[in-house]
This record gives sequence, C-alpha cells and structure tokens, in this order.
Amino acid sequence: MTSYGFVIDTDKCIECGLCLTACKDEYVGNSYPPYSAAQPDTQYGYYRTTPGWIPDDGAAKGQAWVKPGQNWINIVEMNRGTYPHAHTRYVPKPCMQCEDPPCMKPATGGAVYKRDDGLVIIDPEKSVGQEQIVEACPYGVIFWNEDLRIPQKCTFCAHLIDQGKNPKCADACPVTAIQFGDLSDPKSAVSQLVAGGAVQLNPEFGARPKVYYVGLPTPFVSGKVVDAVSKAYLEGAKVTLTDSGGRSVTTTTDNYGDFEFNDLASSGSYQLKIELASYNAKTMPVPKTDTDLGEIPL
Ligand code: SF4
Ligand code: SF4
Repeated sequence: MTSYGFVIDTDKCIECGLCLTACKDEYVGNSYPPYSAAQPDTQYGYYRTTPGWIPDDGAAKGQAWVKPGQNWINIVEMNRGTYPHAHTRYVPKPCMQCEDPPCMKPATGGAVYKRDDGLVIIDPEKSVGQEQIVEACPYGVIFWNEDLRIPQKCTFCAHLIDQGKNPKCADACPVTAIQFGDLSDPKSAVSQLVAGGAVQLNPEFGARPKVYYVGLPTPFVSGKVVDAVSKAYLEGAKVTLTDSGGRSVTTTTDNYGDFEFNDLASSGSYQLKIELASYNAKTMPVPKTDTDLGEIPL
C-alpha cells in the first residue's frame, strides 16, 4: 500500500526559504476542502520546543506570540558544538506524517484521520474548538488558527497528490533537497535514501515519522595536535577515540595537525589517545562530545 514520505537532505539545504514561500503561496487565503482551510497571514499561538532545537524567534517554551502567518514547513537551525567549532544545519520541518500519530489520540469525532496513503489530515470542520490537538504533536508542527478556532498543519499538499502532482515545497526547492515519494516502493528515490541511512527526527517519540533526513549534525570531537615546544602542526599522528564500552575509532591528523571524528555512535564521554613516531604517546579524557579540544601539545 502506498505510504508517502519525504527525505530532506540538510547537506543541500541553503536556507533560501523557497519551500516555505511556495507553501504560503499555495495556502494563504486558499482552502482545499476537505483537507485544509485557508492559512492565515498572521498567527497567534504558543511556542513549544522539541528537545535539542533552538527556537527561531527567541520565545520561551509555553510563551505566547504573534507573528506573521503559520510555517507549515518551518526551517529550523540545528547546532552541535559552539562557535567557532559549531556544526550547523538548516532543517526544514513539515508535518512528519507519522505512522502512529500522537495528534490523533486526543482528537474527538474523527477530527484527525489517516488516509490510505498514510497522510495525516486534520479535518477543518470536525476539528473546530479542539485546541488539544495542537499540544499533542511532539514535533510542534500544528498551529492554532484563532479566527477559525481550528488546528492547522502541513497536509503534504494532499489536494495536489490527488491530482498526481508533488507537494509544492518539493517542487520549489532549487537544490532538490526535498525528495517526495512512496516509501512502500523499494525502487523509489525516497526508499533508496532511507536504505542509505536517512534518519528520523526524535525516534524516541515513538511516532514513526515518515519524514527522513540526510546530513543532520552528529556527535563530534575535534582538535589540533602541535609540537609542545615549537607549536608546529603535527601531521600524520594517529588519534584513537574510545568510548566507555571499549569501542574505538581512529583517524590521522592532516597537514594542519587537525583531526575530527564525526558520526560518533553516542553523545557522552570518551578517551583520546595520540601517537606519533619520536613523540611520547598522550592519553586524555574527553568529557563530552560536540566539542573542539583546541591545541593538544605532544
Ligand atoms: S508530526 Fe505532529 S501533526 Fe504531523 S502526524 Fe505527527 S503528531 Fe501529527
Ligand atoms: S527550498 Fe530547499 S534549499 Fe530552500 S530552504 Fe527549502 S529545503 Fe532548503
């Protein structure tokens, strides 16, 4: 059975905002019954944050705000590390079209339902007054329309899919960062990207989202190995990082003495060992990931 999903490549995303602009062009002032009522061009609501995400407007969790429109695909900055060694990606966040959608649970009268193709729809008529639906989404992608008294969100452009077209954001992206397709078809581009390692956001929510990501920043450790006396960069040093379970990864410093470990299996503490011919080996604790250790003299 068809199961629509996205794979969004954050290595490609340039934060141009065209996906969001195309979404607003499609929905502000336009209703597509039975899937969506018109998106308002101003928006009242409560900011909510997902662990690990930085609010884009400085508002605190639970704080009321008023700002232009609703962002049915919200481009969120995701950071690991700190300046000048931050790893940053821009992460477009539409509705995740969850396989097991938490937003369905508190809805009454069939206000939230799943189509046969897996799309999760908030019925704009049946959901009137059901503000609890907004709070139920762990990804924070449902908006409250105060004028119509309804919750609203991305539908993956269900009305266009019914016509055999793609969601607007996918077509608008100038760098093909947003791939749309059928996750139940192993030959589809999205299925192949998932097979290649695309990941879900916050799988711990247990919602089984059908939006996957490539290129999200992963736990890292970096540093620079230098001669203790001359401060010369030491190229070719063997650097080994070992976690508390005894699993190790190894790399070699480049001609600037730099090393970096990415895609570490877990956040947390590690042990670092540096070895280079004619120097004494050095070991040191690494108390936390997403950190640059700076100059390490040998
Ligand atoms: S992301 Fe939120 S709104 Fe979308 S299906 Fe999942 S729980 Fe519902
Ligand atoms: S249109 Fe594409 S590149 Fe631009 S912000 Fe959206 S996903 Fe990123």
